[in-house]
Amino acid sequence: MTGQTLRNRVEGAVLEPGEPGYDAARAVWNGMIDRRPRYIVQCTSAADVVEAVRFATEHQLAIGVRCGGHAITGHAVPDGGLMIDLRPMGAVTVDPVARRARVQGGALLGALDRASQAHGLATTAGNVSHTGVGGLTLGGGMGWLARRLGLACDTVTSFEVVTAAGEILRVDREHHPELFWGLRGGGGNFGVVTEFEFALSPEPGQALSVEFLLPVAAAPGAMRAWRDLGTHADRRATWNATIDGSAVSLGFVWVGDPEPGTKVADQLDDALTAVGAAPQRVVEPLTYLQLQTREDDTEAHAWRRYWKGHYFTELVDEAIDAILDRRAPDLPNVSLQAYGGAISDVPAEATAFARRDTAFEFVAASRWDDPVDDDALMTAARRYAATLEPYASGAYVNALSDDGAPGVRRAYPPAHLARLRALKRRYDPGNVFHLNQNITPADA
Ligand SMILES: Cc1cc2nc3c(=O)[nH]c(=O)nc-3n(C[C@H](O)[C@H](O)[C@H](O)COP(=O)(O)OP(=O)(O)OC[C@H]3O[C@@H](n4cnc5c(N)ncnc54)[C@H](O)[C@@H]3O)c2cc1C
Repeated sequence: MTGQTLRNRVEGAVLEPGEPGYDAARAVWNGMIDRRPRYIVQCTSAADVVEAVRFATEHQLAIGVRCGGHAITGHAVPDGGLMIDLRPMGAVTVDPVARRARVQGGALLGALDRASQAHGLATTAGNVSHTGVGGLTLGGGMGWLARRLGLACDTVTSFEVVTAAGEILRVDREHHPELFWGLRGGGGNFGVVTEFEFALSPEPGQALSVEFLLPVAAAPGAMRAWRDLGTHADRRATWNATIDGSAVSLGFVWVGDPEPGTKVADQLDDALTAVGAAPQRVVEPLTYLQLQTREDDTEAHAWRRYWKGHYFTELVDEAIDAILDRRAPDLPNVSLQAYGGAISDVPAEATAFARRDTAFEFVAASRWDDPVDDDALMTAARRYAATLEPYASGAYVNALSDDGAPGVRRAYPPAHLARLRALKRRYDPGNVFHLNQNITPADA
């Protein structure tokens, strides 16, 4: 096995340990990940991906698939294996008449948002522009447009996929319909997606960020009032809350004409005042593209990161109290983001993404830079998240970290998991694509 053999088979660059660019190419978003692939293949086409998959299987090398590199687990980077680096395949082409975007498998969300907004169009993308379209969409894809348009995976009309056998398939409702079902939420288990086609919707690009800031001691009543008002919120509003240390923000993000959004902000103001909270009100008009990039710096690369996630079908009072119990040391920051709307219009059995009755997604996230703090911060995050577990209904596959097989069972109910395993047996019986939140061909 030599790198030269591999180089002869692909157009893209092949990097080996010690070569210029190798260390930069193996670095991902989470600074905790320090793995050394035997080869990094910087693929430029589906044909390159085919050769990389074939070479890896011929030589029994574990395959990692890298798009944005944002999975907290760093699954994209296989120690001693072959990393399929899709970043050279980052192009997005928009057909404004057909309202479709063709998105290469290594594209970042920012490229999709920018190319679509240039024509007054958009589809659901996540909240940070340097996240990859690949991992985000294959696991579901939650963003500020999801309550209106559905998850990112709901707006995919077709995929081009390189399978474990090295075949290139076009997958849509008519062609390989079961694989089309599985790719919409089943993660990177079934092949390497070299192109996504998304349906786009008109989106003039106005947004509003509404936050009410208050200390945690004043938050229990306020968070209940915020939750209650959000239950029937307009689909243009996505209720969200954050806790940073002991500072709480309750509010929502509005995408659309800001005028009615301001009225909703007034209603929330009244509801918070009625329970005796006196929060600081911060209302910020933004363009859609500003909204989509405003967290890019706080979510910068290279920090050490750890997180734990839950889904809640209902945010009960006891869960609110547990979330607001911030007495322990080293606690992670928290975000809550509402689902519902168009996400729950889709029947749960229609896609591999199953948790469509979710009311809120909870993520507890820690960020630090000194490895000395690893244990204390990860332990604190685990303990804190465990206090919420009794109220949780499952978890988002893209928010799983070191949860292993039990985490996969939290992401998919039994019927979904059985169907996903059957699909895995059909398209990847040898579990070639196992570096992911793995759906094993047999019961795990
Ligand atoms: C800062 C930040 C913000 C986030 N915000 C959101 C958000 O708003 N909404 C949301 O839903 N999620 C969000 N997430 C979670 C995100 O969806 C996951 O971390 C996701 O795995 C990132 O995808 P990626 O392509 O960047 O990561 P990668 O690490 O490159 O990929 C993750 C896994 O996906 C698979 N994969 C990726 N691309 C392909 C492909 N083309 N073909 C086949 N398999 C592929 C592989 O199994 C890979 O291991 C966020 C994550 C971060 C770090």
